[in-house]
Amino acid sequence: MKDLLSDDFQQVVSECIVRHRSILDIISKQQEASGRVSRAVAKAATSCGCISINAEKAEIPEDISLQDLPNYMSNHVNGHLCDDCRDTLENEIGTQLFYLAALCNSFDLNLYDILLKERKRLHTLGIFNLT
Ligand SMILES: [Zn+2]
Repeated sequence: MKDLLSDDFQQVVSECIVRHRSILDIISKQQEASGRVSRAVAKAATSCGCISINAEKAEIPEDISLQDLPNYMSNHVNGHLCDDCRDTLENEIGTQLFYLAALCNSFDLNLYDILLKERKRLHTLGIFNLT
């Protein structure tokens, strides 16, 4: 069964994208959107201060199992996004999704089918998908 929300989203993107329909515009805009997502995270730390980022090398004991590994890995984020920063990040991720859907439309790919395929791949790999 197809996901109607995803298909509808791709249809709306197709209708909205008039000026930047070229694949060159889409891939460059997608990259720009990705940069803006990173910028929103950085600004939450450096301008707002609702979060802080404290990156350091993970100390992983040699005798732990793969299943225990996530317990020793940090995302290096302290605190929580405030409402403003959350809203900004959501908007930037939304723009990213827009151009991702536009990219799919350019090649007649179905975003939901890709999600299902990736989910199946992750499920198959399980703990061995060490990304
Ligand atoms: Zn904030």
